[in-house]
Amino acid sequence: MVEVVPIPCFEDNYAYLLVDRAAGETAVVDAPEAEPILAALAERSLRLTALLCTHHHWDHVGGNEALAAAFPGLDVVGLESDAARIPGITRTLDDGADVEVVGLRATCLHTPGHTVGAVCFHVAAKGWLFTGDTLFGGGCGRLFEGSAEQMQASLARLAALSGDTKVWFAHEYTAANLRFAARVEPDNPALRGRYERVRRQRTAGVVTCPSTLAEERATNPFLRWHEPTVIDAARAHGATGDTPTEVFAAIRRWKDTA
Ligand SMILES: [Zn+2]
Repeated sequence: MVEVVPIPCFEDNYAYLLVDRAAGETAVVDAPEAEPILAALAERSLRLTALLCTHHHWDHVGGNEALAAAFPGLDVVGLESDAARIPGITRTLDDGADVEVVGLRATCLHTPGHTVGAVCFHVAAKGWLFTGDTLFGGGCGRLFEGSAEQMQASLARLAALSGDTKVWFAHEYTAANLRFAARVEPDNPALRGRYERVRRQRTAGVVTCPSTLAEERATNPFLRWHEPTVIDAARAHGATGDTPTEVFAAIRRWKDTA
């Protein structure tokens, strides 16, 4: 049995351990910094066998080299076309390729937008989706390198997965994201309910991951480009049409300056 353990790093990053207690082994998705990950491994007497990298930003790969030094032979996995930007990479994947970690098959989904080499990892057998800075609880990553068209297509690809898929995102931005979402859709009851839950979680110091794709589809304005209210809000913020890309782009620009 493998379970997911979120490890808070820095102010609001998460690294995710995929822990196989019986084997005493674990994989990790993203290594913002090594120390909290090494501490969590030591505490549980776990050996790290694989590191899956969602994208090259320092607050996702900053701990790669220290982890590789601590665990010789560590598999450091990332997208083939972004290999030059991922420290310590040992194994590259193309879009749609699988890698086996702690006895589970993880599929690499290339989801450009936040960066051109951003990927998500889908563990279909468990219904887990590790979304890096592509899809957040109630939000999505900024467009640092890719176009709005690319990001919208990437998000649409994720949103098409099963509604009960658990979404493990790389930053604890959910409360702030939902406050913005409520400006886009002030009358969405699912959004109001989620915000109340998230507020209670944050007050209690509890993580808001994982969400589910069903929950994101119901409350995340960056997946709701087809909703009349979201289209109206996009038009009020510069969208000149109602295609998914135009609606998405206008909401994203609005949030960047909100
Ligand atoms: Zn990033």
